[in-house]
Amino acid sequence: FLAHHDMLTELPNRSLCVQRLQDALAQAGATGEQVGVLFIDLDRFKSINDTLGHHIGDGLLRSVAARLTQATRHYDTVSRLGGDEFVVIMRDVEGPAEVLQAVERRLIPLIRQSHAVEGHELNVSCSVGIAVFPGDGGDLDELMRRADAAMYEAKTAGRDMARLYSLETDQRVQARQALEQQLRHALERGELVLHYQPRLDARTGRITGLEALVRWMHPVLGQVLPGEFIPIAEESGLIRSLGAWVLERACSQWRQWQAAPAPGAAPHPLAGLPVSVNLSVAQLADPHLVPEIRQLLSRSGMPARLLELELTESQLMENAGTAQQQLEALKALGVQLSIDDFGTGYSSLAYLKRFDLDKLKVDRSFVRDMLNSAADMAITRAIIALGHTLGLEVIAEGVEDEAALQTLRSLDCDELQGFYFSQALPEDALTDWARAYASRLPLVPGPSLAALPPPASQPA
Ligand code: C2E
Ligand code: MG
Ligand code: MG
Repeated sequence: FLAHHDMLTELPNRSLCVQRLQDALAQAGATGEQVGVLFIDLDRFKSINDTLGHHIGDGLLRSVAARLTQATRHYDTVSRLGGDEFVVIMRDVEGPAEVLQAVERRLIPLIRQSHAVEGHELNVSCSVGIAVFPGDGGDLDELMRRADAAMYEAKTAGRDMARLYSLETDQRVQARQALEQQLRHALERGELVLHYQPRLDARTGRITGLEALVRWMHPVLGQVLPGEFIPIAEESGLIRSLGAWVLERACSQWRQWQAAPAPGAAPHPLAGLPVSVNLSVAQLADPHLVPEIRQLLSRSGMPARLLELELTESQLMENAGTAQQQLEALKALGVQLSIDDFGTGYSSLAYLKRFDLDKLKVDRSFVRDMLNSAADMAITRAIIALGHTLGLEVIAEGVEDEAALQTLRSLDCDELQGFYFSQALPEDALTDWARAYASRLPLVPGPSLAALPPPASQPA
């Protein structure tokens, strides 16, 4: 029993799962029946483990195991591969559609119902990938791999759902693997560049800082935006070297802006401004992060308070355990911390108090919709008031027009960032923009800030 079962849940383990699947395939090959393979992975299990402890996490896995058994027929096999990964083998099914229906009507809803674990009512969901023999694969390895790939698609499509394997699944996996391979080389080949987007004081219109945003100048695809490759970098572990490069580049760029001007010339228009860098939570898990930043600061002569680190809300809340210590160490260095995309995650007020933060960035979806939606307006107003009450500065991102600008000023937002002022630009283009902007900025702010600068756009 010990050799073939998982001690925690008493379900069949990987080796028994493989054996059962082999048997099922051998039989199906003879009888012509179809066999469903389900890859099941819990969503955000890590955050439950991190916040409530492994003991509670174990209890949840046992409860999930019981629900999976309840959701399936007695001749199906429910097994645990390890961690929060389960595999179900369904024998003698009619086809993919039937399996998908069973998963969507019975299995997923059963997992969604709350789990009672030692006095806690826990809610969890799962993502499921399905591959069916013989249509989706002729042997064990192929079926397992394809069910896994389909599960991955369910995760990226938003979790808490099931996906059937299809030919496109394979194509997407391959395209992704190719991109990952190329990203590995992109750093060495110097294909990554930083662009910078200005932030402005909502009251005076002055430039208050710059956000560094990474771009990949792909030799064939052209400019690839971070939304496409940062997730790949995070999953493949490349984010550590990529993130280290971004930090290094931003600090040395800052240093260049401080260079003494030629005699008689004005100082660089971006001299003395803070620079913010987006940090992935995966970087926070790296014990070298804090010493590396300390070194970068001393090497570039950048005062710590001029470096701001932006962490997205959802990532931070999902990894609160790991994050806290590192954030404290970063604060001790003197750098500023801001929460990016605020309002899109759990917006946990307890965490706002727990982490020693400096700024909130209102997510641009609220800013975009606030003039057409009373709810988005109320959320924007509430985030600004909440931030101020907690002693935080509030930045609105995604300011695209004069109306948004005026509204945010009237809501007492501190800083603004968006295409209305400037897109993220290469260093030299941003310098030109800042010169033109400074020359037109009045000392006493008029009713409108943005009538002043020519909206900058990216050179082709
Ligand atoms: P973010 O940190 O929230 O950055 C703001 C994003 O909004 C940028 O997209 C920027 O170009 C875009 N944006 C700014 N103003 C406007 C506007 O008025 N309208 C609209 N529609 N969009 C606006 P970008 O550069 O594509 O970056 C996307 C995300 O990728 C960033 O969101 C950030 O989370 C991540 N990212 C960028 N650079 C890095 C990096 O170096 N490291 C890490 N870990 N993540 C990065
Ligand atoms: Mg950001
Ligand atoms: Mg943002």
